[in-house]
Amino acid sequence: MLKADAIVLGAGIVGVSVAVHLQKRGRATVLVDRRAPGEETSFGNAGLIQREAVYPYAFPRDFKKFLTYALNRSAGSHYHWRALPKLAPFLIRYWWHSSPARHAAIAQAYARLIERSVDEHLSLAAEAGSAELLRPTGWILLYRTPSALDEAVTDAERLREEFGIRFRALDRRDLAEAEPHLGSGLTGGIHYTQPVSVSDPHALTLAYVRLFEHLGGRSARGDARTLEATPQGWQVQTESGSIEAKHVVVALGAWSDVVARAFGYRVPLATKRGYHVHFQPRGNAVLNHTVLDDERGYVLAPMAQGIRLTTGAEFAARDAPKTPVQLAKAEPLARDLFPLAERIEAEPWMGLRPCLPDMMPVIGPAPRHPGLWFAFGHAHHGLTLGPVTGRLMAEMMTGAAPFTDPAPYRVDRF
Ligand SMILES: Cc1cc2nc3c(=O)[nH]c(=O)nc-3n(C[C@H](O)[C@H](O)[C@H](O)COP(=O)(O)OP(=O)(O)OC[C@H]3O[C@@H](n4cnc5c(N)ncnc54)[C@H](O)[C@@H]3O)c2cc1C
Repeated sequence: MLKADAIVLGAGIVGVSVAVHLQKRGRATVLVDRRAPGEETSFGNAGLIQREAVYPYAFPRDFKKFLTYALNRSAGSHYHWRALPKLAPFLIRYWWHSSPARHAAIAQAYARLIERSVDEHLSLAAEAGSAELLRPTGWILLYRTPSALDEAVTDAERLREEFGIRFRALDRRDLAEAEPHLGSGLTGGIHYTQPVSVSDPHALTLAYVRLFEHLGGRSARGDARTLEATPQGWQVQTESGSIEAKHVVVALGAWSDVVARAFGYRVPLATKRGYHVHFQPRGNAVLNHTVLDDERGYVLAPMAQGIRLTTGAEFAARDAPKTPVQLAKAEPLARDLFPLAERIEAEPWMGLRPCLPDMMPVIGPAPRHPGLWFAFGHAHHGLTLGPVTGRLMAEMMTGAAPFTDPAPYRVDRF
């Protein structure tokens, strides 16, 4: 039996970041996952540390957009009809929280996390000796019509006024200068300049694991579903034997509800699935920034592995087989935007964004079980918020003053 101060269940970017922050504060921590670290959702995202994302992604309230989604017509969103009955309660609550007034209130709390996202990554990456994975390029939203661009400028100005978010409005010429290989037909874009782009999110997670182990932390393979309460605290079974600790953190991403439910916490977690594939650029084409083709619903990101095409949300059962129809729709659109050569891998990657209906994560204690803590539900921004969550969690768990009021993220808000 191995004794530790804390066990962290789940070695995605969130669990790894919590483990590093605990270990930095002298808490002997064991990081447990059934796979090698960072191989689920944290493996294949678009790599953006979204410093501008103070408004989390809301359910569309605009009727035209809603109808496009409802008819499964857009590359940006897709759903499985047969998953709807089970998803309906989540979707109704998500829609309710997306009203302009609720969304604005949520942004006030969410901004407290988002505003630290880049700084927390920069300091962890520097300590991990991996600062070169973080590129201070910002990212660009693209538009094809002057009216859509004007609307986006108004939105960006509001973000600047309310939250100090920095951006540059790009006209056709500015955009061509920033991205000379994008196709014609673009009117301009919004360049959010504070975000950071990660060239290999998996490598970043692994760098944080190495930092954790360098600080004395240990990693083990095991199934989180073996978690049990003991008179001393908590125990979990791993391939290296059983591990006991006073504290345990559930950071299992899209699978967190399975363990939470076993202890009586019914969290309304749903998944928005997402896909990626990589392409070689054609000839000497270069993509300098990650670009979101908002009107057509996909992202192109320059990554260590190639140009990564990622998709928006797919609403489906967590374990349903892959249905990469959004990739099939997005690929010709992406080829129209940027000169892509062959696909690098035949089989698309799929990840599961863990989502809560009010668009905010759960970060904090399980109120009825001393020593049980939750850190999950980061939806579209788990890479962005991993290290911020790690800090907040470790501050709460060690009795230090939390950098922000953690009340908005508590589990019993549901
Ligand atoms: C296409 C796409 C693009 C995205 N782009 C961005 C972006 O640009 N910026 C951003 O901030 N976010 C982005 N995201 C979201 C981000 O990737 C996720 O929010 C984040 O990876 C979630 O991290 P996590 O640690 O909570 O979960 P995960 O990375 O999924 O980790 C959960 C871990 O729990 C483990 N686990 C599960 N069940 C068990 C069990 N029973 N026993 C033991 N271990 C278990 C898994 O093996 C896994 O390692 C994107 C997501 C997708 C799908």
